[in-house]
Amino acid sequence: MPELPEVESIRRSLEAHLVGRKVVRVRIERQDIVCAPSGGSHLDLLASSHIKSLRRHGKQMAIIADDRRALVIQLGMTGRMHLMPKGRHLRGSDARHCHVKWLLDDGTRLIYQDSRRFGRLTPCASVDHLEDRWSQLGPDALLARPERLRNQLVKGQRAVKAVLLDQRRIAGVGNIYADEALFGARLNPMRPLDSLSEPDRHRLVHHVRVRLRSALRHGGTTFSDHRTPDGSVGSWGSKRQVHGRRGAPCVNCAHPLSSGTVASRTTVWCDRCQA
Ligand SMILES: [Zn+2]
Repeated sequence: MPELPEVESIRRSLEAHLVGRKVVRVRIERQDIVCAPSGGSHLDLLASSHIKSLRRHGKQMAIIADDRRALVIQLGMTGRMHLMPKGRHLRGSDARHCHVKWLLDDGTRLIYQDSRRFGRLTPCASVDHLEDRWSQLGPDALLARPERLRNQLVKGQRAVKAVLLDQRRIAGVGNIYADEALFGARLNPMRPLDSLSEPDRHRLVHHVRVRLRSALRHGGTTFSDHRTPDGSVGSWGSKRQVHGRRGAPCVNCAHPLSSGTVASRTTVWCDRCQA
């Protein structure tokens, strides 16, 4: 599942190609990918607009047009954006599950592909509707100041990992980076939020930011589906210290890593290092 660093990698890659282009035509193959529009009843997906910018908040991305319309893109589990230069075509399994296609004025096609169809596209009548939508989310884990993130991690008996994953608290921390940050901060994922000291919160926010930035430098983590629109893969996966390493020796103390379910997500931690 694409998390914040993967979505930001995709945003940067798309931005370099899309800004200034005009959308000539949009073809929707599967309507169920498209959500009810925010702020209007008949909104197409940026047809006839010039693309002004691409923005991101947490794991959501939006294409903004110069007429102030916006299109929110949520990649879900397996959503991918392909950029195909004029004359080139997707091949093999990549050619399947292509649900929306945008033709641009230079002949490039932007293609939304999603095999499991958990992703969604939501048209917004204006940037104001986009801002409204994103104001329901917590501050962005990569862009917000550390003290703002720390302030989101107070009050409550919920497990600290569950709070990290709650997008209304902090937007953009997913399962991989939550496990890695908790390991870095030496905090047990099941610790009630109220039991964290101020230094605990400092360490945790520091490790969330460090890991997101490091993953972004490496193009994110590639599992089965994530690719940037030019087809390159992320290389951060090899840097994981706990996620996906259940039973393997802790990199710090060599004790076998434990695994369990926290907030309905598979969670891996070290019983010795994470108190
Ligand atoms: Zn350990």
